[in-house]
Amino acid sequence: MATHGENLKRIAINSIDENAIFLQSVGEQLWQNPELSFEEYKAHDLLVSALEKHQFHVERSYLGIQTAFRATFGDSTGPNVCVICEYDALPDIGHACGHNLIAEAGLAAALGIKAALKVPGAPKGTLTVMGTPAEEASVGKILLTEKGAFNNVDFALIVHPYPANLSSPICYALLELQVTFCTAATNWEGSNALDAAVIAYNNVSVLRQQIMPGDRVHGVITNGGTSVAIVPSVTVMEWNARATTTERLRELEPKIISCFEAAAMAAGCSVEVKQLSPLCKDVLTNTKLASLYCENATQLGMSYDTKPTVTFSTDMGNVSYAVPSIHPMYIIGDGTQANHTREFTMVTNTPAAHHATLTAAKAVAMTTIDVLTTPETLEQIKAEFQQKANH
Ligand SMILES: [Zn+2]
Ligand SMILES: [Zn+2]
Repeated sequence: MATHGENLKRIAINSIDENAIFLQSVGEQLWQNPELSFEEYKAHDLLVSALEKHQFHVERSYLGIQTAFRATFGDSTGPNVCVICEYDALPDIGHACGHNLIAEAGLAAALGIKAALKVPGAPKGTLTVMGTPAEEASVGKILLTEKGAFNNVDFALIVHPYPANLSSPICYALLELQVTFCTAATNWEGSNALDAAVIAYNNVSVLRQQIMPGDRVHGVITNGGTSVAIVPSVTVMEWNARATTTERLRELEPKIISCFEAAAMAAGCSVEVKQLSPLCKDVLTNTKLASLYCENATQLGMSYDTKPTVTFSTDMGNVSYAVPSIHPMYIIGDGTQANHTREFTMVTNTPAAHHATLTAAKAVAMTTIDVLTTPETLEQIKAEFQQKANH
């Protein structure tokens, strides 16, 4: 005989299947109307009205962020599970990261979990769907986290399309810096701000020999001067630094700053280093949640690579340091299309991609049911989180 949890999982899966055409149409409409970070007005309205139609209590423009939303279902008792939607696109190449599918998956998982929660005798639980804008700017979830959006959340789940199935991706911590070199005297006895930029570039190139595998530092000169006939008095560079852990990135940061300061000193310039956005943390995968997700996904016919593999940076990192989280990647396309390319855009609205998205959403719903039906599992998840996040 099937257990209570298995019955609830079956109900969640059936609900996702019953709503498949509607869910796919949401993913498709998002794909056809790509919107940039913080400009996701159509996506916000589409998702909010879809959730209202399914009896969620919706807060539009959540916490004063215009294109964020929060939708809740349940009576605020029992654990609070948070399913996360992203929905921003990239300039020129549209939904090249498949966030239209992330929104579709979040909505699908929410409908599945809601159906299970409505069953008489189902465990108590509150379901939150968090609409998180501006992932491509690495900032939407950081703002939401700082504003306390996840304060009452017990655990959070998101799935992301990718060229492979990965249950525990390594997502880099990221620091974005703007560096400005200035000189007051630009006659030939004075100094040249472009020299400082060139020396800074070379200093970082040398530093790369001494950094850890997995660390990444890359920069461009965004202002190298205005005319070849004028000694540059101001130059501006932008730099990204990444590391596989937030701790490691904090160790790397002063070494990079020293490269800029040394360059300024050598060239006789002043230097100003500005952080362009809040530090984006690495993703702290909760291994208990990830293993449940894997088991469920395997039952649905997906085969997951559980070894940590380096992928990209995401603002989900900051959520993962606030509450226990997972950020599994699921495959779309044939494995040769990479995120942030036109080729990936072409596979984020195919029948196969929508199918894979709904399968990943089912695994999210099933994982949630596992946690809600076995209170000791949530204890384990929280104990692991406490140990890792406060390390
Ligand atoms: Zn992306
Ligand atoms: Zn993405």
